[in-house]
Amino acid sequence: MPICPECETALDFDEEEVEEGDVIICDECGTEYEVVATDPLELSKVEEGYEDEEEFGEEEEE
Ligand SMILES: [Zn+2]
Repeated sequence: MPICPECETALDFDEEEVEEGDVIICDECGTEYEVVATDPLELSKVEEGYEDEEEFGEEEEE
């Protein structure tokens, strides 16, 4: 089970039940992580209050 880098608590979700783009929230510290890859599982911390919103959800895909 993945560990939250912020508080080192085990993130409570099933790796096999998440998909790319899913957002996982740490129950302990509330940090949000977006699933960027599932094989292997890779999480990207979602920065709150990020000023440059142009980088949010507007990524170009082929
Ligand atoms: Zn945490």
